[in-house]
Amino acid sequence: MDIPELAKRAIRERMLVDGQWRDAQSGASFAVYNPATGLEIARLPCAGEPEVDAAVQAARAALRQPGWAGMTPYARERLICRLADLIEANADELAQLETLNQGKLLQWSQAIEVGGSVQWLRYMAGWATKIEGSTFDVSLPMPPGTRYRTSTHRVPVGVVGAIVPWNFPLAMAIWKIAPALACGCTVVLKPAEETPLTALRLAELALEAGFPPGVLNVLTGDGSTGAALVRHPGVDKITFTGSTEVGRLIGAQCGRDIRRVALELGGKSPVVVLDDVDVETAVQGAAGAIFFNHGQVCTAGSRLYIARSKYDRVVADLASVANATVLGSGFDGQAQMGPMVSAGHRDRVMQLAASGAAEGAELLAGGVRGDGPGYFVRPTVIANPDNKPLTLVREEVFGPVLVAMPFDDLDQVLKDANDSVYGLGASVWTNRMDQAQRAIDALEAGTVWVNTHNLVDPNMPFGGFKASGLGREHGRSAIDAYTELKSVCIAY
Ligand code: NAP
Ligand code: MG
Repeated sequence: MDIPELAKRAIRERMLVDGQWRDAQSGASFAVYNPATGLEIARLPCAGEPEVDAAVQAARAALRQPGWAGMTPYARERLICRLADLIEANADELAQLETLNQGKLLQWSQAIEVGGSVQWLRYMAGWATKIEGSTFDVSLPMPPGTRYRTSTHRVPVGVVGAIVPWNFPLAMAIWKIAPALACGCTVVLKPAEETPLTALRLAELALEAGFPPGVLNVLTGDGSTGAALVRHPGVDKITFTGSTEVGRLIGAQCGRDIRRVALELGGKSPVVVLDDVDVETAVQGAAGAIFFNHGQVCTAGSRLYIARSKYDRVVADLASVANATVLGSGFDGQAQMGPMVSAGHRDRVMQLAASGAAEGAELLAGGVRGDGPGYFVRPTVIANPDNKPLTLVREEVFGPVLVAMPFDDLDQVLKDANDSVYGLGASVWTNRMDQAQRAIDALEAGTVWVNTHNLVDPNMPFGGFKASGLGREHGRSAIDAYTELKSVCIAY
């Protein structure tokens, strides 16, 4: 397949640091692929220490420039809105670029990567003018006759190092950039090596919108680039979305340096379907929860618990849905599921899917690669009727692989649902209010959905319990995350 013209025009093959396009001093580079064909679409510089240092210095300098530091909150709001307008004006190009690079269906690039980014930017722009502290009374008795006026003020946390994954490249970058800019921070963004293209075009649009050079910098590279950013003493806060494994490394480094850190990590989110739900609703809900974005979603509903009376019919119908799913390029209007993001990730997903049958579960659909040269994996449904402690029940796959278990008792299934190191999302499906409330009380997850799954909103805090992370994004929590609280005590 040829590269669509709009997407081709939007490809940038250098990094954007301090408003300048630049290469890596070392000359090191890496290839970026179209996952639907396996063909190379771009070659980008791999940032080393010198480029990381230049980007952090630029972000530090911008933090102090009157053009940014002296800007009123309203002016920041206007700039962020202008960036949203520019994204909207270039929506087709950005959506095509994302589908080309990430593989997801074009409709999802349009709605979530582009549409979501515009919505998040506009929402966060509004916060710029609403950041506030508080006044409070103190009980200081000395010296006699002295009074005190005390208050808190929120100030920008400073230079933010944002490291993002490949599953929602543009949206994840915006989830971090939008609140950081609203709060008056500056940003060094490190997109995933698989999917750096929309981040570069985004940074270019930010310059066009009028953000001063250095306020948003994009470094392309691999994990070593990310690690160098995390170590750099000029970074005040690291915000990371990705695997729990890398999150632990980053958290440990930030702990040693006493650097602020937010971690949005993996999940093994349960979907619990009670016996009052009709089979069709259960099948549609469960299929959407696991197969959306080809399963490459941190809150993917990858463990399905179904009331025993409905179990056989729900798993059989889910297998039919999986078998009927049409795989293809995200540009193909007939396709219902695209490829995995990379060959390596496809192989990992295949390996984990194979572990199901090897450990005594029943493969009902998928478990094989899709046709063609791209990185396709057939949607996979695995039945685990005896509730065996499979690898698939424990480990995040990050692909279209579902494991299904029957249950008899609500309290027991809620215990099973919580029996995970992760706690990112969970959903319960029922029309019985008492059961839903009991599930909401019991589920250990940053987000609990009832009769829906995977929904996010800029006003709804998002993050993980347990090993799924530290901190929350969106809403007021995001503003707290990108500001420091300063207490002021005035004697008079
Ligand atoms: P990852 O390896 O954790 O990578 C995420 C980001 O961190 C990428 O930009 C990556 O750079 C960077 N990175 C890698 N090693 C680093 C280090 N030592 N220090 C600093 N930054 C580093 O995740 P991934 O490769 O995108 O996906 C692997 C698994 O992560 C998935 O299979 C899934 O289980 C999980 N995941 C979770 C989420 C989520 O939202 N919770 C999202 C995506 C993935 P590179 O460019 O070199 O990759
Ligand atoms: Mg990686």
